[in-house]
Amino acid sequence: MATGPGHILLVEDEQAIAETILYALGTEGFQTDWQTTGRGALDVLAAHPVSLVVLDVGLPDMSGFDVCRELRRHHDVPVIFLTARSDEVDKIVGLELGADDYMAKPFSPRELTARIRAVLRRSNGQAAHASGLSTVWKHDPEKCRIGFHGVTLELTRIEYRLLAALLARPGRVYSRDQLMTAAWEDPGAALDRTVDAHIKSLRAKLREVSPEDPIVTHRGLGYSLREA
Ligand code: CA
Repeated sequence: MATGPGHILLVEDEQAIAETILYALGTEGFQTDWQTTGRGALDVLAAHPVSLVVLDVGLPDMSGFDVCRELRRHHDVPVIFLTARSDEVDKIVGLELGADDYMAKPFSPRELTARIRAVLRRSNGQAAHASGLSTVWKHDPEKCRIGFHGVTLELTRIEYRLLAALLARPGRVYSRDQLMTAAWEDPGAALDRTVDAHIKSLRAKLREVSPEDPIVTHRGLGYSLREA
């Protein structure tokens, strides 16, 4: 238990899919638990901690969204959703369930294990970030200041709030609505494209410091911050 890359809880009711995922995870050294229902998954989480949950949206007893809401009440474990339909993807982003990533079926088990590793790296990286070990970003919320590669950025209030929201969870995709809520006191007054305009000016300021663009555009979904 102490060694190996981590302990994954797979919640998937389709046996054929579950078996290929479990096989791929096993060959990469992950410990695994497999549950076919939301209730079973919540019981496992109550019994012992896991490193990450891979959660199918369509389960026989409750939806993966409800499972996620329920587990979020007690656990801070990373969650990767498995989806069968594109409207489910919109929900994952829109419902602010705190999902760390998602995979649309069909997918290769290899891609899933790569995503799992990335999410686990990210959550470890966030711990390092919180303890001030990040070399790329420095965020001082009390002074509303953000440093990028050692340079303190000169940001407008809106730019600061947008970047602070993105920085809170690198890699997470934020919809324009979510960013608007985070950055504007009266989000209703802001037009959708206003977010794009401020992201554009933010990018220009970041580019003056470093040529890499740390902000990722997700077509039709929103923006995320590249993981350091
Ligand atoms: Ca299913």
